[in-house]
Amino acid sequence: MRIVSAEVVVTSPGRNFVTLRITTEDGLSGLGDATLNGRELAVRAYLVEHVVPLLVGRDASAVEDTWQYLYRGAYWRRGPVTMAAIAAVDTALWDIKAKAAGMPLYQLLGGACRVGALAYGHASGRDLPELFDSIRAHLERGYRAIRVQTGVPGLGVVYGVAASVGGQRYDYEPARRTALPVEEEWDTRAYLRHVPGVFEAVRAEFGPELPLLHDGHHRMTPIQAAKLGKALEPYDLFWLEDATPGEDQAALRLIRQHTTTPLAIGEVFNSVHDYQELITGRLIDYVRSAVTHTGGVTGMRRLLDFAGVYGIKSGIHGPTDISPVGMAAALHLDLAVHNFGIQEHMEHAARTLEVFRTSFTFDGGLLHPSDAPGLGVELDDEAAGAFPYEAAYLPVNRLRDGTVHDW
Ligand SMILES: [Mg+2]
Repeated sequence: MRIVSAEVVVTSPGRNFVTLRITTEDGLSGLGDATLNGRELAVRAYLVEHVVPLLVGRDASAVEDTWQYLYRGAYWRRGPVTMAAIAAVDTALWDIKAKAAGMPLYQLLGGACRVGALAYGHASGRDLPELFDSIRAHLERGYRAIRVQTGVPGLGVVYGVAASVGGQRYDYEPARRTALPVEEEWDTRAYLRHVPGVFEAVRAEFGPELPLLHDGHHRMTPIQAAKLGKALEPYDLFWLEDATPGEDQAALRLIRQHTTTPLAIGEVFNSVHDYQELITGRLIDYVRSAVTHTGGVTGMRRLLDFAGVYGIKSGIHGPTDISPVGMAAALHLDLAVHNFGIQEHMEHAARTLEVFRTSFTFDGGLLHPSDAPGLGVELDDEAAGAFPYEAAYLPVNRLRDGTVHDW
């Protein structure tokens, strides 16, 4: 089963996506997601200039060997651009292998451990009435777990909070199509004063059972995060995510020493090695990597199996800058791994779903990848061609005195 072609499609149906399609001599084709929000063309160049020439003529069935060939063979290891490119190749090869077998991918990965993947949606509001409306809307859409993000008095636009910026809902697409990144203002102490009261109000309104999640988006120091984790203990969070900047693994040890609030991190990681101290030290409860940014199905399976040895569960990253291809790959893993925790889910825009024809379903709060052979996603080239790439950047964050801070 030789590879005869590999092409990279960049399309922007509401936001930018980078997709790799690999085709074999028997006419089978597979898709992989290589989207790196705000740096899309770097991955496209890495694929087109350095990876595609290595793929043509290779055996499409040699998935692990190809992963190692691209990972070890480059000499320069890891990094988001490299690992997104490897992820796209790996996911496309798994798609082909499962199509060749006539099976949904989760069957090749060992079969389903559950009937569906519990998904959490993103509720937010600038104030409590808006937040309550958003939580109710998510419950009506069927969500059985909810991420809660809130505005902070005295601050303008805040990460994760729905607002209309330039006609776009902010929580749907924070990357704005401007010449330079939008700059936001941040005050961690104001945030820390406000958030516990919000969760107290949400529990009072919606009761004790609903799983609630919260994302700190890497903005706190370890001791600030420890203080927040402690303050949120009465409200029984499912997890506190991205409390501190991701590259400082030891920071999680300090947080862990002070709070029993479960901790999740890892969406900016791209390798199992980024988790070594976190997993062996049992410093976190959930791994947050995306299939798209962690070397594909192979890289993610390795990470989840490693985490499982230490009783740590999955919480695969799934915002809308993961394409429907990357999302489908996540859902197949969600079904197949024993240590599944929860799946992030933001619904893609209608335009995105015109380009990517998906088959996955959301029913009763559970996502299912469908039983279509392979990933169950097809790319409509004609529809993709109608949405050319447009440069977009994620925001930059500054403290009130102008210091650049983590966004
Ligand atoms: Mg996050």
